[in-house]
Amino acid sequence: MPKTQPSLETIVALAKRRGFVFPTSNLYGGLANSYDYGPLGAELLRNIRNEWWTTFISTRPDMVGIDSQILLHPKTWIASGHVGSFSDPLVDDLVTKKRYRADHLIEEWIERKIKKGSTEFSSFVVEDLSVKEMATFITENKILSPDGNPISEPKAFNLLFETAIGTVADDKARIYMRGETAQGIFTNFRNILDSTRVQLPFGVGQIGKSFRNEITTGQFVFRTLEFEQAEIEYFFNPKEADWQKLFENWKESMHSFVTNTLGIKEKNLRWRQHSDAERSFYSKDTYDLDYNFSFGWKELWGVAYRTDYDLKQHMEHSGQSLEYRDPHSGETFIPHVIEPALGIGRAFLMVLTDAYTEDAEKKRTVLKLKPSLAPYKAAVFPLLKNKPELVEKAQAVYDSLAKKYSITWDARGNIGKRYLYQDEIGTPVCITIDFDTLEDDTVTVRDRDTTEQERIKLSNLEEYLASMLQ
Ligand code: ATP
Repeated sequence: MPKTQPSLETIVALAKRRGFVFPTSNLYGGLANSYDYGPLGAELLRNIRNEWWTTFISTRPDMVGIDSQILLHPKTWIASGHVGSFSDPLVDDLVTKKRYRADHLIEEWIERKIKKGSTEFSSFVVEDLSVKEMATFITENKILSPDGNPISEPKAFNLLFETAIGTVADDKARIYMRGETAQGIFTNFRNILDSTRVQLPFGVGQIGKSFRNEITTGQFVFRTLEFEQAEIEYFFNPKEADWQKLFENWKESMHSFVTNTLGIKEKNLRWRQHSDAERSFYSKDTYDLDYNFSFGWKELWGVAYRTDYDLKQHMEHSGQSLEYRDPHSGETFIPHVIEPALGIGRAFLMVLTDAYTEDAEKKRTVLKLKPSLAPYKAAVFPLLKNKPELVEKAQAVYDSLAKKYSITWDARGNIGKRYLYQDEIGTPVCITIDFDTLEDDTVTVRDRDTTEQERIKLSNLEEYLASMLQ
């Protein structure tokens, strides 16, 4: 099979080397499934987040945004079903005591069979298996842990993080770190209706941290304990709107955001519809937009038609009405909802993977990020750092551009090395101030992707950057 994607190790190494992502608490040996975003990672994350907010909230008259708490009333999670059934099937290696997800071990076992030429399980969907069926599958096929040891029976393991207000020993003080941002939207539904001018159909979005007690390790920022979600609840009247049409529109908006706004190659994306067994019982249709990560096709963004399940549950558990009154007909009803839910960390890993390019001819690594996502839009170099007149002129260029754009400065080493560094972090252009600049107010602008250089008038630089960012 031709190698299409850089390996995860390559991306992890670049991320660490250049300050995109560091393992959390490195100083103390790290913490499983936890990562910190470094100086460049913070910029890239911020750009992805901002693009999402601009696309789906600020430029749409039918959308509003909120920012709810991580700690919500614990009844929220009982009503949403998370306390009862937000779980993964967990098994223990009986010798090493390491923990694994049963569905992942089964998937890996099937993949190995297929690689050896077996067709028996080629259309088998592991997500369709109940925990009990997984137990039978594991016993019948004598599936072992990755270390070759026997494993325990799968048990449902709740993913919600528990903590407490005050003392942990007090059962009544139990509270949960949110497992998704969506519930903060449902619990604010009445407030939003009462305080804004929204009318159905309309959506509410938010970006924020969620927490899940994940046990699968080794997938870098794809699966972390603490992660950022960008979720939307799009409410509508099921009697007036055709849900299938709305659902298709959302799928198109998601796909267009990933390809056009984030610049991801279409060939690395696919849609996967959930089977009846995999889908939550209240959902009428669910699709995942999968990306071709180096460890396989995996979910980047899910979209589900959740009917009126969540609002109904919160009405029942809170005793408060979450009905909508149609201003024209006077009819009251519980709106239905479509939920597109994206993980920002997964989008980040996708963007790095997709942009990573090794240019063998020019012996360089290039992150071909869309300029709008690049941590720095341009790098400003004085040709020589020991010539005050060059440094001063370059400083003035830096100051004027930095008012508008995220710009970086580099006066270290030779120009060739500076270019290589900027290529590796995805800076679209490098601007060099040399002795000619002092004479004629022109600079050398070097393009990241083509490595071509051209002379540009200082007065045209802003325009040049603006057109690049379009
Ligand atoms: P998976 O099956 O991969 O565990 P999920 O179906 O449980 O994901 P959702 O509950 O649909 O995920 O969450 C919405 C989005 O949040 C996902 O599409 C994904 O991008 C992101 N996400 C979920 N769990 C994590 C995690 N542990 N780390 C990073 N991102 C996550």
